[in-house]
Amino acid sequence: MKIAIDGPAGAGKSSAAREVAKRLGYKYLDTGAMYRAITVQALEEKIDLQDENALVELTRRCELELKGDAQKGNLILLNGRDITTTIRLPIVNKHVSIVAAAPGVRKELVNLQRRTALKSGNIVMEGRDIGSNVLVDAEFKFYLSATVDARAKRRWLEMREQGIEVPLDELRDDISMRDHLDQKREDSPLCVAPDACVIDTTPYSLAEVVNKILAVVSTTD
Ligand code: C5P
Repeated sequence: MKIAIDGPAGAGKSSAAREVAKRLGYKYLDTGAMYRAITVQALEEKIDLQDENALVELTRRCELELKGDAQKGNLILLNGRDITTTIRLPIVNKHVSIVAAAPGVRKELVNLQRRTALKSGNIVMEGRDIGSNVLVDAEFKFYLSATVDARAKRRWLEMREQGIEVPLDELRDDISMRDHLDQKREDSPLCVAPDACVIDTTPYSLAEVVNKILAVVSTTD
């Protein structure tokens, strides 16, 4: 059984996807973490982010491991190095959508995502193009949305909890810019899959969103 959860930054995908996976005993894969990891390496190597060939070459030599599960949270290793907190830094937020727009990078990472789904069996996978591209045959597809203000506020609170202080305005601008880049790119842009169940999470708590998802999964089961 495959469950796809897509939506823009801050719509509550990660928390909801992790909780749904935990409640169902499924594997959980955060595909945004993969694009973030490649961005970290590209920034460290000072690669020109418009140079697709260089980005693809880098992606091919990066060994990515997403360890852990829905219970413990993910640990992200890049060539054996723990970059779990580095991938959430503001500099990575700023550049990740540029890296993710490169079709060659997407091809490599989508292959890895599909292989992971095959290996895992039951999985909750979250991202931008899971229902529309990576797992078009997923049994359940959800698209979570929320207003930009609500999403920026959530991200601000999350980051503050992790000890990362970023002005709310800056986060709102980053999120709007990423929305734009993610929706406008040519290759598998952020969009609502035709058969996805859309949930506007603005008025709901995490528990309410999780219950809505589980209700759909159990009634159609
Ligand atoms: O989900 P998260 O905000 O961590 O994703 C970071 C970025 O990675 C997104 O803004 C998007 O540019 C890219 N992404 C993507 N396709 C996915 C997951 C993430 O393009 N499936």
